[in-house]
Amino acid sequence: MNPIHEIVSSNMKRIREERKLSLDQLAKMTDVSKSMLSQIERGTVVPTISTIWKITNGLKLSFTELVQQSETTVKVIHCADLDPLIENDGKYRNFPVFPFDEKRKFEMYYIELDEGAYLAAEPHPAGAAEYIVVFSGELRVCVDEEEYTVGCGSAIRFHGDRPHSYECLGSDQCRISMVIAYD
Ligand code: MN
Repeated sequence: MNPIHEIVSSNMKRIREERKLSLDQLAKMTDVSKSMLSQIERGTVVPTISTIWKITNGLKLSFTELVQQSETTVKVIHCADLDPLIENDGKYRNFPVFPFDEKRKFEMYYIELDEGAYLAAEPHPAGAAEYIVVFSGELRVCVDEEEYTVGCGSAIRFHGDRPHSYECLGSDQCRISMVIAYD
């Protein structure tokens, strides 16, 4: 974690570029002097809390948008480096590739189901939608007691707030990606 003035500095630079604002324009919008803004942006001064409030109010941002480290542009994940969540005596392995993202309200998993794997899942919160793509094997999804067979190269979407289960059909390992999007 970088010191606070470095985080504010890089956030301000990014936001000002995104909105194509000059320091003069920003000074008018925020009631913070141009020289102070310039020092904050260069990271040569630690802004006071009231200055941060003035800037975020002027830009109509929340306070945290200026003081929180923004996510890096690119993130590469290797499933082999992740500890899978294990179910069904290890026959169902869930790798949390992108855990719940507070801002974007979704999570993404890579899941392997060995022959015979079966999992009755807990329904997700109201309004959640689940998206599954099957990359190998054959998956049986049961939603609200309706059964759907989803083969390799196919996908399924359903209301994740309903009772549902997953089962690997046949002898081939079933590999799927799963996205859960929250309302
Ligand atoms: Mn589910």
